[in-house]
Amino acid sequence: MSEINVSIDRNEQPDVSGKALLDTIICGDYVLLMDDENTIIEKGAVAINAGAIVAVGEKQALVDAYQAKEVISGKGKILMPGLINGHTHSPMSLFRGLADDLPLMTWLNEHIFPAEAALVDKDFIHCGSLLGLAEMLLSGTTTFVDMYFYPEVTAQLAQKAGVRCLLGVPCIDFPSPGASGFDQSFGLAKDFVSQWSNKDSLVKSAFVPHSPYTVSEINLKAIAKEAQAREVSIHTHIAETEFEVAQSLKATGKTPVQFLDAMGFFDASVIAAHMVHLTDEDIAIAQSKNIGAIHNPTSNLKLASGFSPVQQLLNNGVYVGLGTDGAASNNNLDLWQEIHLAVLIHKGNERNPEAVNALQALAMATSLGAKAIHMEETMGSLQPGLRADMIQVDYTGLIFQPMYNPVSHLAYVFGAEQVTLTMVDGVVLMKDRELMPAVFNDLLANIKDQQAKVMHWMNNRG
Ligand SMILES: [Zn+2]
Repeated sequence: MSEINVSIDRNEQPDVSGKALLDTIICGDYVLLMDDENTIIEKGAVAINAGAIVAVGEKQALVDAYQAKEVISGKGKILMPGLINGHTHSPMSLFRGLADDLPLMTWLNEHIFPAEAALVDKDFIHCGSLLGLAEMLLSGTTTFVDMYFYPEVTAQLAQKAGVRCLLGVPCIDFPSPGASGFDQSFGLAKDFVSQWSNKDSLVKSAFVPHSPYTVSEINLKAIAKEAQAREVSIHTHIAETEFEVAQSLKATGKTPVQFLDAMGFFDASVIAAHMVHLTDEDIAIAQSKNIGAIHNPTSNLKLASGFSPVQQLLNNGVYVGLGTDGAASNNNLDLWQEIHLAVLIHKGNERNPEAVNALQALAMATSLGAKAIHMEETMGSLQPGLRADMIQVDYTGLIFQPMYNPVSHLAYVFGAEQVTLTMVDGVVLMKDRELMPAVFNDLLANIKDQQAKVMHWMNNRG
């Protein structure tokens, strides 16, 4: 399908040839807009100025209409929106492979929590955040929604690297790195939201209560009220395990979703990671309260949490995004793996080959994912007026031939290594598998230092 959508922005000055001047035209043999019509433009391009998409259309039409400072070739490339990681704990990348193949509570209580208590400080967060950012850029992720300690360190690094993100101070009812308990963590969370309130910043703030089982009702209500007053989102874990739902039913007589709904929690904009164990009523609440559900298939498989009813969520109009969760429960931040699993596991689980199709899986990582994190007015699709977050994917390798339908290959065949360019806000941050921002220069040496600290702790923990 071909479509031309050329609009001239009034702010652009024409050059002597009469063409409007702008920063960049980036091309693709196939340009997937991920718009409502699922438009694919063959031999297409996107025109970009001051970090925003000015026009999308056929390459020739854009080259005729605009004089760009730079034209990026699209030969052998698919151009599409950048991927959105709707739920992660990016600094946990330093715990990649720390403990595997264990029940959730053993994994958490005997490995992750003690490791965090002993090892997590600002240096750890600095190195872990950079490692997470590097992996995300190398795999085509342009926006991530994060939940981890000392988020001010992650926020500053994301801003330096030029990556879009949404994050906040985790609030929890017991002591955690950086806070003695809920009151202190909530105070820090409010300060963080005030500090990162610039609407034009790549870094956006949110309130981040850990879950309805680690934060009390009165504290959850306080967070929801504050989030509404400040018009920021809430990012939390909901209904991850059968155990959590059973505990909630026992303690409150309600499922986690119904318990939160009854207290008015969903009057705020909520991003809910996991949403695995849900009733029909929970799904109806998710739709009516505009809860963004973030599906984390690898984490749910690795920790044996179960299968989220993704097709049912989609059928009921719930916005579903994809997340990697932290690298300790994955063990990477590669969204291509999540796309592959999302398109496959529900077919097997539901004995239905039509469950979660290729386009739906791809939308969950892009346009639908943007809706799930309440940021579709910023990015998620390639449309004039949105920010210029996009990737090029190389399809020329022998093992990718033949290609009849780019959507099929994107959902089933390609991986992170095929991403050859990652752009956020009109700036190229990764090209030909090389990271551009200088902030990554000493990363490998820093990782080795942190690895030595983690190994020393492992060998001496008794
Ligand atoms: Zn998580």
